[in-house]
This record gives sequence, C-alpha cells and structure tokens, in this order.
Amino acid sequence: MRNDSFWTADAPPYAPPQRPLPAAVDVAVVGAGFTGLSAALALARRGARVLLLEQGPQAGAEASTRNGGHVNSGLAVDYAETAAAYGPALAAAWYRAYDDAVDTVQQLVHDEGIACDFIRTGKLKLAAREAGLDGLRRTVERLHADGVDTDTEILERDAVRAEVASEQFVGGMLYRRSGQMHMGRFAHGLAAAVERAGAQIEVGTPVQRLERLGATHRHRVHTPRGVVQADQVLLATGATRHGGYGSFGWIRRRIVPVGSFLIATEPLGEARAHALLAGRRTYVTVAHIHHYFRLSPDHRLLFGGRARFAVSNPTQDRSSGEILRQGMEAMFPSLRGVRIDHCWGGLVDMTRDRLPRAGERDGLYYATGLSGHGTQMSVHLGRAMARVMAGEAAANPFAGRPWPAIPGHLGPPWFLPLVGLYYQLKDKLA
Ligand SMILES: Cc1cc2nc3c(=O)[nH]c(=O)nc-3n(C[C@H](O)[C@H](O)[C@H](O)COP(=O)(O)OP(=O)(O)OC[C@H]3O[C@@H](n4cnc5c(N)ncnc54)[C@H](O)[C@@H]3O)c2cc1C
Repeated sequence: MRNDSFWTADAPPYAPPQRPLPAAVDVAVVGAGFTGLSAALALARRGARVLLLEQGPQAGAEASTRNGGHVNSGLAVDYAETAAAYGPALAAAWYRAYDDAVDTVQQLVHDEGIACDFIRTGKLKLAAREAGLDGLRRTVERLHADGVDTDTEILERDAVRAEVASEQFVGGMLYRRSGQMHMGRFAHGLAAAVERAGAQIEVGTPVQRLERLGATHRHRVHTPRGVVQADQVLLATGATRHGGYGSFGWIRRRIVPVGSFLIATEPLGEARAHALLAGRRTYVTVAHIHHYFRLSPDHRLLFGGRARFAVSNPTQDRSSGEILRQGMEAMFPSLRGVRIDHCWGGLVDMTRDRLPRAGERDGLYYATGLSGHGTQMSVHLGRAMARVMAGEAAANPFAGRPWPAIPGHLGPPWFLPLVGLYYQLKDKLA
C-alpha cells in the first residue's frame, strides 16, 4: 500500500523549475490550491502581473489533490437547518452559490480543455436509519417549497439497493446537479492555464511573513528566496498547518484543521465496479462521522471518512487507512480481502458554522474555511475574489459574514479528540 494520494500518483505534477522572483508585482497569491490557482487565472486574464507562491513541491499539493473527488452541489450543512438559522433568503443564496460553483468548474474545464473526466452523475446522500431518511425528506420538501433545488429527490430503499450493493441503507437523497472529476488532472490543467495566461507559479517557496506598508493593500512578501513587493495579496492557504501563519495568525484562531482520510482499492474491473455502484455517482452517508466514496475512472473504489479525530499528521497516518478498510468491508462485504493500493489524508479547513469565509482584513484579502465542501467553491471563490480585488465587492457570495475567533483555539486543535468522542456518541444515539 502506498502512502500517497491516488490523484497525484495518477497524474503528472505541475512543478515548473524555479525562476528568479520578480522585485514587484500587482498581486501576490499565497497558496496554489484551487482557490489560489483560480484567482491567479482570473487576475492574469484581467491584465495583472501575478505571482503565485506555493510552499509545496507542486501546484495543488494539499487538500486540492488529497480530497474525495466529489464536486458537490448543495451546502456543507443541511439546507433546512441553514434556512432556520439564517433565514431562507441567505440560505437560498448560499445554496445557489454552490450550484454556480459547480457550473464554474464545468465551464473552466471546457474553456481550458482540461482532460479531467468531469461528469455530472449526481450525489446520493445515504441514510442507514429511518430517522436520517426523515431528515432528508424534510430537506427535499424545503428545497422544493422554496424553489431552490427541484433537481433533488428521495430514493427509497429499493431504488438505492438497485444501484448501491450494500444492505446498510434504508434510502437516500439524490442531488442531480453534483459532479465528479479527477483532481490531479484538474490541478495540472488549471495550473497550466494559469501560466498560459501570463501568471508565474513558484513552487517550493513558502511565504514566511507579510509586511504591510502603511494603511494600504501593499505588502512586502517575505520568502526564503527573497522579498517581493505586491500591491495586493490574496491568502489562499487552506488549512495548512505547517508554516505560513506567522504574520497572518488571526486566521489560525478561526480555522480548525481537521484530518480526513481516504483509501483506494486496486482496480476492480468495469463489471465488478458496475455491480458495486451502478450509478457511478458520488456517495456520502448521513452521520456526524460519515463516509464518502466513488469509483475512479480506472474502476477503483475511493473510500473516505474522518476515521480518527487525532491531532496527527494525516499524510503519514496509516492507522486511519485500516479503520477505513474495516468500514468499507462492513458496507460492501463483497470487497473483503481486496487489495488497498493507496492510503492518504489531508486537512480540512473547517469553520465553526461550516460556511466559507472570504473578504479583506487589515489590507489582506483571503478566501478559506471551505469545510470539506470545497473542490467547487475554491474555484468559484478564487474567481470571485479576483473581482473583489478589482473593486467589485458584490462578487463575494459570503461577504460580510461575522468571523469571531474560536475560544481556546490558540495553537494545534487540542480539543479534536473530545469533539470526535462527542460526535461518535451522537451517531450512536441517533
Ligand atoms: C481528505 C479530504 C477530502 C476532501 N474531499 C472533498 C470532496 O470530495 N469534495 C469537496 O468538495 N471537497 C473536499 N475536500 C475539501 C477540498 O479539497 C478543499 O476545500 C479545497 O481543495 C481547498 O482548496 P484551497 O485552494 O482553498 O486549499 P488547498 O488545496 O489546501 O491549498 C492551499 C495551498 O496553500 C499552500 N500554502 C499554505 N501556506 C502557505 C505559505 N505560507 N506559503 C506558500 N504556500 C502556502 C499549501 O501548501 C496549499 O497547497 C476534501 C478535503 C480533504 C482534506
């Protein structure tokens, strides 16, 4: 079993050789995940001189190529609960922003000719208990009543059983607008488009410190390879823990980096894969500690979940892979003994309310907090922030959200194991 992401193992890395850093640019983007790449592309298209600085060895080194490969429509949180908490107008606007985000990805894939197997086969949210299915029914009713998403529907037990070869589920909710793609190939294609548009990507170049010049948006960007002056800076740093937080530490007090993990089986062959998941959709289970899965283009099962709530380095965590294998075999007994080829993990940039945050603070632009629902919103928000930085504040779908620091969260998230126990208990009692 390899300790690396299937997506990066199965796609060429985008890692251009280092070139001299320019002395000054219009915009410096910190972080070459999908948020930073998408912003850099849109900014370069507007004629800005853009430098994208990435601490990792390639573009898309972290969550963007370590995820489950789902391009979800719908919010990370339940729509009905969001409407109850924030009012139907805001909930509907945010929900639609995710629809727009899937469209943005599809359009980009088309316009840039990125061969990443993007396809819209929908997402099926699976309930193992009647109470969970009742909750899904309420959500579908509310989405239809508010006219927000009439492409959702409930699939009863038999319909689910006809396309998911597991006895665990009593029904599910289908989101027809969701898609999926190969994240390694998308990252490569997007990064290539960024440089074609004239922006410069420098990998292996961590930003150590940002020095604001007076009460402006202008900063000196400090890296081990030199200092660059930028008229504007966008932080697109995701959840990454190692390094980078020195002078932008205020984000750290608001984002909880939570490990999430995946395994990829050996290729199962087309017939066996079809017998397992005939709809070839993306799938997620209803639970606080849920599983998510899909087939890869070469017919592997990619099976993920939270596995453990440890403050560990998820890139080296093999014990989570073993927990996932057990969960996969319990769900799909026909996979007992199947070879696991890849096991990997990544950090999810979780906010307390699981809603993204984007805007400007102390002269610094930022977009983060995608809370595990970000392969599409990263691309969408990156593009939106390029417009915000050009003066179009209304382009930000999450403008003006309050974002207080999380009490007691000053360094590594010591409270994660406790949160995990709490959610395990809630799932048992549900
Ligand atoms: C295991 C896992 C599974 C997931 N599954 C899904 C899924 O199936 N569907 C879905 O919608 N979402 C999923 N997500 C979430 C999704 O992948 C992310 O929301 C999205 O990729 C975030 O993109 P980003 O560009 O904001 O962050 P990232 O991809 O993390 O990019 C941030 C980049 O900034 C760089 N960086 C950080 N600090 C510095 C610095 N100081 N200097 C230079 N560079 C720096 C990092 O190295 C990194 O490359 C998953 C996430 C994980 C971890």
